[in-house]
Amino acid sequence: MLAAKIFLDRDLLRPDYIPDELPHRGPQILRLVKVLAPALKDARPSNIFIYGVPGTGKTAVTKYTLKRLNMEGEGKGISLKIAFVNCKHDDTDYRVLAELCEQIGGRIPFTGLSSAEVYRRFVKIANSSSGTIFVVLDEVDSLIKKAGDEVLYKLTRVNNQLKDTRISIIGITNDLKFTEYLDPRVRSSLGEEELVFPPYNASELEDILRDRSNRAFANLVLRPEVVKLCAALAAKDHGDARRALDLLRVSGELAERDGDISVAEEHVRKAQKEIERDRVVEVVRTMPLHSKLLILSLNAIQRRSPSGGTTGEIYEVYTQITKEFGVDALTQRRVGDLVNELDMLGIANARVVSKGRYGRTKVVSLSISYRNLQDATADDARMAAYVHK
Ligand code: ADP
Ligand code: MG
Repeated sequence: MLAAKIFLDRDLLRPDYIPDELPHRGPQILRLVKVLAPALKDARPSNIFIYGVPGTGKTAVTKYTLKRLNMEGEGKGISLKIAFVNCKHDDTDYRVLAELCEQIGGRIPFTGLSSAEVYRRFVKIANSSSGTIFVVLDEVDSLIKKAGDEVLYKLTRVNNQLKDTRISIIGITNDLKFTEYLDPRVRSSLGEEELVFPPYNASELEDILRDRSNRAFANLVLRPEVVKLCAALAAKDHGDARRALDLLRVSGELAERDGDISVAEEHVRKAQKEIERDRVVEVVRTMPLHSKLLILSLNAIQRRSPSGGTTGEIYEVYTQITKEFGVDALTQRRVGDLVNELDMLGIANARVVSKGRYGRTKVVSLSISYRNLQDATADDARMAAYVHK
């Protein structure tokens, strides 16, 4: 059978692809250009701190704007260097500094030096040229939470050690409360300028998707309701453009897999289920140990009584499981907090029920399927075995 061609260029829908146009981000791009443009006049741009919930275009806008600025600089014979680090991938002082060195032309061994030494090398390499170096620390909250703000502190002071070079820092975060973790001195120098990215609404997401889908899909393959539906669903999910694009891409992939000639609403519905399933599995898979043990407890209880268990019952099973895993149990109060966390993440469902004259009690059940739980624990043999118990 000759399968219909669904995609012209699927890569245009990938999250790391930067399109030539970024609809509805004009004001943010303008602001960023204004803050960073002094680099083209050989002055140091202010540091800037960018924040907004995930999928609001922070990374895309920053890369896009720096690329434009760099092109303009090249035209004028002005050298700009861009060192871009994703602190979620490189989340130690050493990795961040090593990555910065490499991006401005140094070579750092994977391990073996102290981070102080890597920092010295960074300063040395930076000093060997002139002009502006933009240091972009994307998802910088990951670094701070894991390693503290020492590197950030050093970087905000580094200009004192430089001669003909200037460093300007662009810090990006999804975590709006992140500045609370920072030393006030770091906060004020990083936040010389601040830029907020608001979530997209449904009609903005529609424009974004339409733009990107035009060249990604074959002609007339997308049914008219598809883009609208993907945009509406992602708008409910705090206006996340990444989610909207994922929905559209996965919908197309499902249509392709089924050998359908067009992408329709049913594909989007299926795509949403699939994405949600992956999200849940990933959330559970990366949870801390005690949350996982709590989930195992909920699972064990649920296999006996499908409506779930009271907090007392849960704690009893949980302490039993911690013994079997050879770890100390957390306090009942702490476990209560973890239950609330699971509830908020949509992994468990806690409800208060009336027990007649015995008063009210909280009953908690697991909201994820047995199959998802199996997938989420598959890479840990002991847990996987426990899921079946
Ligand atoms: P953030 O860094 O805020 O989490 P990203 O910049 O990674 O978000 O954006 C998520 C995805 O959505 C990326 O694929 C990006 O290219 C795309 N995107 C975001 N905003 C726009 C826009 N205005 N136009 C086109 N694509 C966009
Ligand atoms: Mg980002």
